[in-house]
Amino acid sequence: MTTAIYSHPECLLHEMGAWHPESPARLQAIQDQLINSRIDTLVEQREAPLADLSDIARNHTAGAIAIVRDNIPPVGEHYPIDGDTSLNAHSWRAALRAAGAAVAATDAVIDGDIGNAFCAVRPPGHHARPSEPMGFCLFNNVAIAAKHALDVRGLARVAILDFDVHHGNGTEEALLDEPRALMASFYQHPFYPYTPPRPETPNRVNVPVPARSGGDVVRQLVMDKWLPALHAFQPEMIFISAGFDAHREDDLGGMSLVEADYAWMTEQIMAVAKQYAKGRIVSCLEGGYNLSALGRSVAAHVKALAEL
Ligand SMILES: [Zn+2]
Repeated sequence: MTTAIYSHPECLLHEMGAWHPESPARLQAIQDQLINSRIDTLVEQREAPLADLSDIARNHTAGAIAIVRDNIPPVGEHYPIDGDTSLNAHSWRAALRAAGAAVAATDAVIDGDIGNAFCAVRPPGHHARPSEPMGFCLFNNVAIAAKHALDVRGLARVAILDFDVHHGNGTEEALLDEPRALMASFYQHPFYPYTPPRPETPNRVNVPVPARSGGDVVRQLVMDKWLPALHAFQPEMIFISAGFDAHREDDLGGMSLVEADYAWMTEQIMAVAKQYAKGRIVSCLEGGYNLSALGRSVAAHVKALAEL
């Protein structure tokens, strides 16, 4: 089965200032590395559609949507949302493309049109709360897609796995009362966004790890925590919040993963997806700010998704 990469040129037009690490150059670095490693010709490239407002509204309040839609500034200006997050003239359409990629990829995977997908999109999503944008994120692309899979496509159970260095607070909040979803993650702690850890439940396996943790720590917690939860839950589809800022070369995070760790985690997730979910995986870009490490890590991730 084919692996597809969803993206759109409008995702490059959203920017939050020349100094900002969450920059359009991230998507260019990913594309360059996919070409350099000759993966680009072995996967299908698809254009992300704009999400429908009904898709966004499945996970976000009218107020959260209005914060983005109603504050788009003129070309050349920025509208600040929080200290780390702002809008430019193109942010609304970029955010709709990012969420639209996740939803379209979900439909294509459920329809059996493709085997799995990676959404090379920005703005990222996992800090976006149901009620407001936060931390570089406008809408929660993965949560929107997961709720589409459950409520529109009628799947019974979905899992969301988050390997970004930061805690996916927006996703956790979105799923607090959702018994049909399992969230499993690890994250550097204490660290942004400083969410107090919530107790572990069969549906919530978010594992805090200290700074400087590397592949040995992460592989062990995946085996000890993630995999048993996934085997117990038996998801019909898996979403990945694929942040690559736990890489040892990434200065925004303080962990020390390498490309091989991302490939290994992807292989573990693939095995679970094949066992319970007909292989269905939709992975969406979250963080990852060292451009070289980001490109190489995404290449390793996509290579594993495509079994190349
Ligand atoms: Zn992050």
